[in-house]
Amino acid sequence: MKCKKCKENAVISSPHLCRKHFIEYFEKKVHDCINKYGLIGRFDSICVASSGGKDSTAALYLMKKFFPESKVTALVIDEGIKGYRDKTLIDLKRFCAKNKINLNIISFKKEFGKTLDEIIKSKKLKIKPCNICGTMRRYLLNKYSRGYGCIVTGHNLDDEAQAIIMNLFRNQIDVLARLGPKTGISAQKNFTQRVKPLYFCSEKESAIYALLMGFDVSFNECPYVVESYRADLRDLLNDYESRHKGTKLNIVSSFLKMLPKLKARYANSSPITCKVCGEPSSKDVCNACTLVEKIR
Ligand code: SF4
Ligand code: ZN
Repeated sequence: MKCKKCKENAVISSPHLCRKHFIEYFEKKVHDCINKYGLIGRFDSICVASSGGKDSTAALYLMKKFFPESKVTALVIDEGIKGYRDKTLIDLKRFCAKNKINLNIISFKKEFGKTLDEIIKSKKLKIKPCNICGTMRRYLLNKYSRGYGCIVTGHNLDDEAQAIIMNLFRNQIDVLARLGPKTGISAQKNFTQRVKPLYFCSEKESAIYALLMGFDVSFNECPYVVESYRADLRDLLNDYESRHKGTKLNIVSSFLKMLPKLKARYANSSPITCKVCGEPSSKDVCNACTLVEKIR
């Protein structure tokens, strides 16, 4: 199997591309997404929500490459997941040291008094680990990315397709309206705009890019992922994609056609702040503060 652009052997079958042309293709996809959706301007500083995994490491690397005049910082939330986060943190520290990237580590233990493992073990919350983790992590990412031009996340096409279907299946149209390459309400006080430059790159493409670039990242999964609703949808969509190529891209493309209307319909005209912590919230007390109160 030869590359469709040269005579080298292809490293991927769809599209048929060799190493050099695949890297070009992947980076162009990310660059085009940034330009098309105006994701990143001429910011002095860019914060990348990092985990040490393949997607956020690719995002980190590409922000450094595309925006050499901006100061790029990796912000990582250490939830305290034994055997998983401790390992990805080692990879991330190594990557940041090698690429001279500033690294800011924020931990659940220090911020909330407990690690995620401890919160789950205490059984005080009757919700799934990923829901606890997601709420608390989003809260900390917003809090510690304040002052940066934007916060870049490593969300890929698979993540977005799963999120779209998940919100449809749960009849959460207001949450659905907050998805897209540029998320949240940029005008909201204390809110850092979140952007997803890997929006059109599939999970597989992102994994191949990380391998070809020699990123020293682990492909291990969080032990709690199996308990999540998202994991079921991931398997379902992977199955569909294997039988009906293009399913994930079609889901995301259809969603993008609806997004302007959804945003107009569900725009929050009067965003409020949490009366406990002062962070942006849709209710008097934000979800993170509600959870923290219950785990005390
Ligand atoms: Fe958190 Fe769930 Fe992701 Fe694990 S899989 S890091 S628990 S959101
Ligand atoms: Zn709060």
